[in-house]
Amino acid sequence: MNESAIREQMVMHGRSLYDRGLAGGSTGNMSVRLEEGGFVATPTNACLGRLDPARLSKLDAEGRHVDGDKPTKETFLHLAMYRRRPRAGAVVHLHCTHSVAVSCLAGLDAADVLPAITPYYVMRIGKCPLVPYFRPGDEALGAAVAELAGDHHAVLLANHGPVVSGSSLDAAVYALEELEETARLFFLLRGHDVRRLTDDEVADLKAHFPLS
Ligand code: ZN
Repeated sequence: MNESAIREQMVMHGRSLYDRGLAGGSTGNMSVRLEEGGFVATPTNACLGRLDPARLSKLDAEGRHVDGDKPTKETFLHLAMYRRRPRAGAVVHLHCTHSVAVSCLAGLDAADVLPAITPYYVMRIGKCPLVPYFRPGDEALGAAVAELAGDHHAVLLANHGPVVSGSSLDAAVYALEELEETARLFFLLRGHDVRRLTDDEVADLKAHFPLS
């Protein structure tokens, strides 16, 4: 996909995420890796519902700002993911309500914050580990994401929200939506007797739908 099509796709996904209440105000950001090297990212303080394709931020292969508006202050989260996942084509980070609510719970399983309650969570996310809390913008948060990103394309920042990569922007957005939907189901089912997928069922899904 060429750069201008990628920019249009970012605007389309941004508007869709905003319209569905998954990215309120100026929260949330996304980036796409360009085939010829470098990245396009959403600008700092931009509302995802009103992105201008011509003003998206362009970064070089090292993540330095080279054109367009100044990039999101959370660019370092995206770069941490790309550095550890050379095949990742896009990264999305949102402060979406149900995922953030999970990230604020005490006593989470840090290795996998949500139970395997649907096949789609297993197929699109697999496991989602918890990244310990850091002040927003703290560079140590990037290091903590990088530590987990080699083995996981989705991580949940404690008291903050998810960071998800995918082979394409579509794949990253759909995976993040699956994570958010599973978080919503998790709260809907709290207090109910839930039949989780068994270890054998999870293994069978992983064998049939390997994560890239
Ligand atoms: Zn954030």
